[in-house]
Amino acid sequence: MQLKESPFVKDLPVVQGRYSFGYLMSKATWFKVGGPCEIFFKPANTDDLCYFLKNKPSNLKVMCIGAGSNILVRDGGIDSCIVKLGSGFSEISIEDDIVIAGAGCLNRTLVMKCQEAGLSGLEFLVGIPGTIGGALAMNAGAYDNETKDFLEWFEFVDPQGNLHRLHSHEIHMTYRHGNLPMDSIAVRAAFRCIKKDPLEIKMKVNAYLQKREESQPIRGRTGGSTFKNPAQGPKAWELIDQAGCRGLRIGDAQVSEKHCNFLLNLDAAQASDIETLGMMVQQKVKEITGQELEWEIIRLGAPL
Ligand SMILES: Cc1cc2nc3c(=O)[nH]c(=O)nc-3n(C[C@H](O)[C@H](O)[C@H](O)COP(=O)(O)OP(=O)(O)OC[C@H]3O[C@@H](n4cnc5c(N)ncnc54)[C@H](O)[C@@H]3O)c2cc1C
Repeated sequence: MQLKESPFVKDLPVVQGRYSFGYLMSKATWFKVGGPCEIFFKPANTDDLCYFLKNKPSNLKVMCIGAGSNILVRDGGIDSCIVKLGSGFSEISIEDDIVIAGAGCLNRTLVMKCQEAGLSGLEFLVGIPGTIGGALAMNAGAYDNETKDFLEWFEFVDPQGNLHRLHSHEIHMTYRHGNLPMDSIAVRAAFRCIKKDPLEIKMKVNAYLQKREESQPIRGRTGGSTFKNPAQGPKAWELIDQAGCRGLRIGDAQVSEKHCNFLLNLDAAQASDIETLGMMVQQKVKEITGQELEWEIIRLGAPL
């Protein structure tokens, strides 16, 4: 996308939060790639977000991101408004065995808070480097647990700027798919935990962190698992390995040697290198194993 004055600028409502124009999405994603987005909006709080949505130009498209740990933004950027939830959405409160967290809160921060309070259940989220909003949208999971397993309710703002609450039995979350109402922005969620000894929780958290360190390139520029595991049979990484793709490279984009369902930006990869590499992996897996791999990473925006 050519950097130009957004036609929407003059019609944007006056908000408490902050707008940026032509914000480089490479600064907001784990892959550290991605062109500019037309408008980048950090609302101050839920009221501010509702006010923005009620008063924004009706033809301005809006999408929310969290920590950008599961998205690949193309080099041409995004022709719409990206909403990023910041500190106004990171509050955590505890009521007996229920923990309530803002959708901008990082998973790790929530897990540490639960550990201190002796609340068990959400430990699996500790090494998933996203926000609670991202965990809801993706139904993030690890070690046989998923976000949905502990969810009591969550609150979201609809595209018209109205706040709603849905209880977990009212939505149907599936593997890596939160199934949130269309174009909604999750702002807060409550999880039911189990009271346990903080030391026991700490040990579990540390074991999960160590396991991840050993098996995943967690310090690399990556988007986590690139493809969903097929419903049956070998896992995505096994198929990728079988197809001989471990270590495969296009420019500075590489299939991780450590965990071959992870793609890496070694240094100066473009989004196009990473996406092309992913497509090459899909093709080789199809040729060799006959299986179709489905992207787990959300790809956004336009190519250059
Ligand atoms: C090293 C590494 C390890 C990982 N390990 C795991 C793992 O074990 N298990 C796992 O499930 N995932 C894993 N991931 C992927 C990723 O961390 C998760 O999918 C995470 O839940 C994404 O959260 P996020 O805040 O970064 O969301 P983003 O990547 O910013 O966005 C992902 C999607 O969520 C939507 N979204 C984000 N916030 C909101 C909101 N408030 N309201 C509505 N929609 C929203 C976005 O629109 C987008 O569609 C890993 C990623 C990395 C880099």
